[in-house]
Amino acid sequence: MTDAGSRERIEAFGAARAAVLERIANACLRAGRDAVAVTLVAVSKTVDADALRDAVRAGLDLLGENRVQEAAVKAPLVPGAHWHLVGPLQANKVRRALEVFEAIESVDSVGLAERIDRLAGEIRPGLRYPILLQVNVDADPAKAGFDPETLAASIARMVDLEALDIRGLMTIGRLVTDPESARPTFRRLRDLSAQLRDSGFPIGPDLSMGMTDDFEVAVEEGATIVRVGRALFGERHHPD
Ligand SMILES: *Cc1c(COP(=O)(O)O)cnc(C)c1O
Repeated sequence: MTDAGSRERIEAFGAARAAVLERIANACLRAGRDAVAVTLVAVSKTVDADALRDAVRAGLDLLGENRVQEAAVKAPLVPGAHWHLVGPLQANKVRRALEVFEAIESVDSVGLAERIDRLAGEIRPGLRYPILLQVNVDADPAKAGFDPETLAASIARMVDLEALDIRGLMTIGRLVTDPESARPTFRRLRDLSAQLRDSGFPIGPDLSMGMTDDFEVAVEEGATIVRVGRALFGERHHPD
């Protein structure tokens, strides 16, 4: 990549970032929220490390990946980036995940939380490792996540995991053509979080919800983290 080419790409990423941040700010205005309360995770799956170095230079320094191995390969090549895992995590990859990611947004079982707790205590002693609990709000058989009906009981089994900091909840909206159709899912996640916290469950207020097609609706419904890929990096050419 020539310097000129890189400069153009940095500008393009900067413009895409500014456009997404403006859309977040406008959604916040509509909802009477403060835009600083919304964190943008740039979902960079399938984007190569060379491009990601320019993304970081353009201010996209919090990156989301859904595969441990892909992120582990790219992370050493992208200085200054911070990484969140947003995809499924197998038990045998937890150690690697803890080395690469600063947070895991996609914890979908008590067993996985227990394993992260055990290894986080070893790998990052003294720190409470940040996680979010992924909730399958719509009971979609194609999606991972806790059942909303039994989430309280599941959290009750996780309260003694002292190496974990359960920052909040995460969900993936339905695949829909009309972003409005995702609103009930986001609203349910927000209500669930409020109910749990009102009942004294020790989870934080974060709500990770909203992707390229529906992040404005998610922000209107209270998202504190949006996970945006295509609106920043363009269409993905191969399946993720
Ligand atoms: C790919 C992915 C995203 C980003 O999706 P876009 O539609 O590209 O914005 C967000 N969250 C998760 C869990 C993903 O796998």
